[in-house]
Amino acid sequence: MSAKREVTLVYDERVLNHAPDVNAAFLPGRLDKRVRGILAGLNVQWKYPEHPGRIQAILDLLVREPVEGLRFAPGKSATREQLARVHTTSYLDDVFSLRDKNAWLDVDTTAVSPGSIEAAEVAAGTAIAAVEAVCSGSTGSAFALIRPPGHHAEPVRARGFCLINNVAVAAAHAQAELGCERVLIVDWDAHHGNGTQDIFWADPNVMFFDIHRASPFYPGSGNLHDVGAGLGEGTTVNVPMPGGAGDVAYLRAFNEILVPAAEYFKPDLILVSAGFDAHWYDLAMNVSFEGFAAMTGIVQSLADRLCEGRLAFVLEGGYNTESLAHGVRSVLDVLAGGSVPEPRVCGMEAVEEAIAFHLSAFAGESSGE
Ligand SMILES: [Zn+2]
Repeated sequence: MSAKREVTLVYDERVLNHAPDVNAAFLPGRLDKRVRGILAGLNVQWKYPEHPGRIQAILDLLVREPVEGLRFAPGKSATREQLARVHTTSYLDDVFSLRDKNAWLDVDTTAVSPGSIEAAEVAAGTAIAAVEAVCSGSTGSAFALIRPPGHHAEPVRARGFCLINNVAVAAAHAQAELGCERVLIVDWDAHHGNGTQDIFWADPNVMFFDIHRASPFYPGSGNLHDVGAGLGEGTTVNVPMPGGAGDVAYLRAFNEILVPAAEYFKPDLILVSAGFDAHWYDLAMNVSFEGFAAMTGIVQSLADRLCEGRLAFVLEGGYNTESLAHGVRSVLDVLAGGSVPEPRVCGMEAVEEAIAFHLSAFAGESSGE
């Protein structure tokens, strides 16, 4: 059992106001027609998977099964100046022009509702608040409970349910205002963080480690040989995995790639793009709750050794609300000082129990000839 630690959940309920409804009247335009054409071709009724119920499921679980010592702190809205550190002026003009409207931003299914632009500003600002709390020493670690997610958002466009790249905004803020020169971003969402990679592609002061399901799985980027460019060559670290990869493979990648990379890089701050769609309920990968907890233990130990414990998580994906909620809780439990479980191959404990149960029946004399 580790010592008790302070962990703060940073949350602002305005993130619930982003609620695209595919049946609402959207802006007239070619993109809307094209998306409607795609949706009409589906065999099933399509609902927007990145919905407010994701956050509600997490909050409900934390009421039913509280994490001892977990503190709550309010989030806030990011300023345009803070967003402009990682997004272009023309992109921000485009996004802000959609305030109070329903619109499609891309055919990768990113849409907005009247509350979405404010929710996106609050998501990025709440990621900043989490980093500020960690850097000021007011908490040991922090978890920004936010949506819409961010890691697919590129400097110039929205993608994959993401409007603003929250983790990138938080990293850039830590560099500009909080005295953190070097930032390590660990992205364990099942999908590659193409936007975060783009933003810091040539930046030697941000190391981006991303373990994800390999192309052609969405968004199709993040190949092994994509390592950054220019001064940033070597600070992008991609670990593409086959579908169905689980705890053992993930933890080996963390221990044998992330740990030496982080020790080499020597960050002043560690951020985690924490998606929970790598859990097997989400059908892409095979990570367990113990796996998420063990990965948390590794990044926490890196933060302790390399940057005085400065560690902040931001929520990314995770669309099965049960695995999302329990995944977040398993992370918070470790951050609060709970023990770090040793993940095992799924089914092994049950097999061992079954061995113990059955084996005595077959000991001694054979029943055959
Ligand atoms: Zn994802």
